[in-house]
Amino acid sequence: MSTGEPGRRLLAISAHPDDVEFTSGGSLARWAAEGWTTFLVVCTDGSKGSPNPQDTPAMVARIRRDEQEAAAQALGIQEVVWLGHPDGELARVANLVEELTRQIRRIKPDRLLAWDAWRPYELHPDHRAAGLAAVDAVLAAGNPHFYPRQWREAHGLQPHRIDEMYLFGTDQRDTWVDITATFERKMATIACHASQVAGLRDLALKMSYCNQGYAQGHGVTYAEVFKVLHPFCDT
Ligand SMILES: [Zn+2]
Repeated sequence: MSTGEPGRRLLAISAHPDDVEFTSGGSLARWAAEGWTTFLVVCTDGSKGSPNPQDTPAMVARIRRDEQEAAAQALGIQEVVWLGHPDGELARVANLVEELTRQIRRIKPDRLLAWDAWRPYELHPDHRAAGLAAVDAVLAAGNPHFYPRQWREAHGLQPHRIDEMYLFGTDQRDTWVDITATFERKMATIACHASQVAGLRDLALKMSYCNQGYAQGHGVTYAEVFKVLHPFCDT
C-alpha cells in the first residue's frame, strides 16, 4: 500500500472534468489530507458531455467547469488549470505536450497522475491523448533541450524532474492505495458532477464493488490502483 508524505506537490492531468474523481478521488483526498499540495490540469472543456442535442457546447462546458471546480474544492485541490481544448479532439492538439511541459515546470510536482495511455482497448481518444502527452511532457520537462524558450524567458521556468508517475485506468496495476477513510468523500465528489451521473445510486454501488474488489487481499475495505513509473530512475 502506498502512503503520502507531507509537504510534497502532486499534479493530476485529466482529459475531462470528472476523470480524476472516478479513477483517483479517494487517493487525491487522502494525499491532500496527509499534507500534499495538489493541482489539477483539465485538458478539454468537456463540451461534448451531454446526450441532449439541444445543449450547446458552451452551455455544457460551463456546467462541467462549475462541477469540476466544486469537486476539486471537496478533494482539497489547490488550483485547477483549464487548457480548454474542445472535448473529443485532444489528439489533434499539436502543442499539448508543450502546454503540459509548461505546467509541470511551473508547478514542480514530485508526483504526477495521468491516464494510462497503453491500456488495451482504451476507447476514449482523449484519454489516450492526455495520457500519452502527460508522459511525454514528464520526459520533456526534465530536459533543458525541450522547449528551451520556457526557461529562457524573463521569469524562466527551469527544467523539472518528476520522481514518480501514477497511471490510472490501468490494467498493469502494481500499486494499491487504501481509500477506506476517504471513499465517502470520493463518492461526494463524483456527485458534484450531476450532469454526468444520472443514476447515482447504481453508480455508488458499482464504485463500491469496484474499489472493494481492488482492496481484496490487501487487508482494507476500499482501494484504488495505479501503475507507477519512475521516469528518471529507469533510464
Ligand atoms: Zn474522460
